[in-house]
Amino acid sequence: MTVTALIVAAGRGLRVGGELPKQYLPLLGEPLLRHTARHFLSMPAVDHIRFVINPDDRDLYDQAVLGLDLLEPVAGGAERQDSVLNGLESLIDQGTSKILIHDCARPFPPEDAINQCLKILDEAQAAIVAMPVADTLKRDQSGICGETVERAGLWRAQTPQAFRFQAILNAHREAKGLKLTDDAAVAERAGIKVHLVTGSEDNFKVTNPEDLARAERLLMSKLMDVRCAGGFDVHKFGPGSFVTLCGIEIPHSHGLVGHSDADVGLHALTDALLGTIGAGDIGQHFPPTDEKWRGANSDQFLAHAGHLVRQKGGMIAHVDITLICERPKVGPHRPKMVERVAQILAISPDRVSIKATTTEELGFTGRREGIAAQAQATVRLPL
Ligand code: MG
Repeated sequence: MTVTALIVAAGRGLRVGGELPKQYLPLLGEPLLRHTARHFLSMPAVDHIRFVINPDDRDLYDQAVLGLDLLEPVAGGAERQDSVLNGLESLIDQGTSKILIHDCARPFPPEDAINQCLKILDEAQAAIVAMPVADTLKRDQSGICGETVERAGLWRAQTPQAFRFQAILNAHREAKGLKLTDDAAVAERAGIKVHLVTGSEDNFKVTNPEDLARAERLLMSKLMDVRCAGGFDVHKFGPGSFVTLCGIEIPHSHGLVGHSDADVGLHALTDALLGTIGAGDIGQHFPPTDEKWRGANSDQFLAHAGHLVRQKGGMIAHVDITLICERPKVGPHRPKMVERVAQILAISPDRVSIKATTTEELGFTGRREGIAAQAQATVRLPL
């Protein structure tokens, strides 16, 4: 049984933050869409994830999902219902048997309820995450309570909504052009019985600016396990005309000697990140005895460490590198280095710090025999 999460992110909702559609607004420094993707990526029951996006947002999307293992996104349509249908049609050859249709603007999909929905699909066609209405309901008549509405038996539908793939595809094809408010309504119209599973109040939809603040508070409360670790590396000078430092090639009278590209800055930082999750050191993951890594670009070592942190549901809160050398001068290259490290780790540049110092001509760096680097990383993991 292949389970695919189809996440709808094609809307233009600008209500929350002005210029950017809300799914790309930062939530603790990472786009909301990335948080939603990560939640589904961490669920063992979900095999594939596909986003439906507005093609105008392709650059924003690519930046937001950097390094995440997702299916290629597909283009949405004019209305949400058109977007879902496009997404479903795109999955016909993917072997999907169960599908979870989810709104990207809900960054905290409840895993237990989702697993329950998927289990129900063994016997049934549809199950959705929803919450029973607890508040008394009033009908507004020009600011006056016109009527108290009986709330017994009323539920608020959330997403994800889970369906047998073929059943919901057929239902959506038949409902094309109609304006139905959610996928469950599309299913109901086709005569499909939709089961209700209790979701979570945390599974709210980010609609207003205060929802974004609430999402940040919630995220903080889920990522309370703060870890800091350090890394250190040295490479000696040898023949060459440039050195690679923090992913940037800098012209120099010498090169740095190493099995890979000898990027001390990225090596120290890779070790620091591995340290935050107790994942050993760079040599264990990329043995210098392995021919595969000869002359390798160190970007991939750092990206791998970042990936391991994310696999644990973690967020990189901050990284800090100190390069220790007399020459070359680091200052002029610092902005590019910050940008490059942020890009490799898919975090915002304001979470990256790069510093340089000399050792006052003392020791091996002072004698210009090589370059040393130390790094610190801080990550937040789920408790
Ligand atoms: Mg090294």
